[in-house]
Amino acid sequence: MNRRAVLQSLAMLAVLPVISACSRTKATGSQPGAGTISVKPLNKPHEEWRELVSPAAYRVLFEEDTEPPGSSALNREDRKGTYLCAACYLPLFNSADKYESGTGWPSFTQPITGHVTTKQDFRMILPRTEYHCARCGGHQGHVFTDGPLPRGERWCNNGLALRFVPKNQELPALRS
Ligand SMILES: [Zn+2]
Repeated sequence: MNRRAVLQSLAMLAVLPVISACSRTKATGSQPGAGTISVKPLNKPHEEWRELVSPAAYRVLFEEDTEPPGSSALNREDRKGTYLCAACYLPLFNSADKYESGTGWPSFTQPITGHVTTKQDFRMILPRTEYHCARCGGHQGHVFTDGPLPRGERWCNNGLALRFVPKNQELPALRS
């Protein structure tokens, strides 16, 4: 290897971390597919939801707990309908966007546009993108970039944080 080749290699090494940092930022962008927020946030203290949801749902929604994989009946739910936030009843997902990811958690290729917001979560050391209900702030799950094409997104949701309403039933009024 001549001197020029060595210099070129060094230059490449200097560039690499920049490239990988950029692609990581792109892969877990702050709003992957979530869209512009289209609902008015509800400024209800989290504590007040304690009376309205089960203790297990409260831990997921407002303490960012994760239910054990395979524990939700919604994994096997395949009827047409709407998935609402279990706390405030804001519709978050349509059944048409649900798919079997094999992870043990209800999974979707996309949320209802503007009804969830995302933030970076560093609890597992490597950053993950957490998402929550745009209205009440209830934690729902994490979004990953290994989902099916064309979007390539996997919205991995806790079943406890959702309420399913079949298509032939009326959606309940939003809770406030
Ligand atoms: Zn909500």
